[in-house]
Amino acid sequence: MDGQEMRLLRSLAAAGVRYVPRAVAATPAPRPAEGATPAVPAATPPAAAAGPRAIAGAVQPSLFGARKAAEPEPELAAVAEGVLRCVACGLAKTRTKAVPGEGNPHAHVVFVGEGPGADEDRTGRPFVGRAGQLLDDIITKGMKLRREDVYICNVVKCRPPGNRVPAPDEVAACADWLDRQLLAIAPRVICALGSTAARRLLDTERSLGALRGATHRWRGLPVVVTYHPAYLLRNPAAKTPTWVDIQRVIELMKDP
Ligand code: SF4
Repeated sequence: MDGQEMRLLRSLAAAGVRYVPRAVAATPAPRPAEGATPAVPAATPPAAAAGPRAIAGAVQPSLFGARKAAEPEPELAAVAEGVLRCVACGLAKTRTKAVPGEGNPHAHVVFVGEGPGADEDRTGRPFVGRAGQLLDDIITKGMKLRREDVYICNVVKCRPPGNRVPAPDEVAACADWLDRQLLAIAPRVICALGSTAARRLLDTERSLGALRGATHRWRGLPVVVTYHPAYLLRNPAAKTPTWVDIQRVIELMKDP
């Protein structure tokens, strides 16, 4: 516990607020309103149904927002293993490969897209098609980072047939996998790519246009909303406002 957190604890204690210690990480915790999503259905096989709060020693949301796991690697590996075996929604029947996500477990930024496309479904890796090449350009040319410096994943881990928008029940079934990834990494900023990711993280039906241009919160972590790279391929004029959003991401990535 650092000095800042200790001061916060003292002020909260003075206000009569009781701190929830890390030791209860394995106890189911209520979901904060902004990230609220249903749990994985009970019909899911036990190994794949384990949610973020089922992992002993894993992070949990606290009064201070998301806590960073001391060692995110084991949790991310467990999520990846679970995703590859997951049959919690109908997308399991049509996928070729599930796409858990990839990148730096200690990344300062996590990009969250909608779902795998055809190239991702074939390779098992996120954002490797044309939209992925554009995201690579944003990361390398715009942000001056390497792809391996960031973490990239999607709201749903299996491809919706025909690249359709994932259905609400599919998003809900996959929610715990994404939650666990974000809580394990606890980046300085989450960049939501497109309206599906934005609405999922912010639990809202507001349009992407209404959500852009502000810093939102998911379990205490800053969230910046911008256009999905696939949209930029169809609408190159949207690259300019996207760059404005990415500059906000860059600012939030800096040392607090
Ligand atoms: S999309 Fe998510 S919930 Fe559905 S089968 Fe794939 S990993 Fe499981």
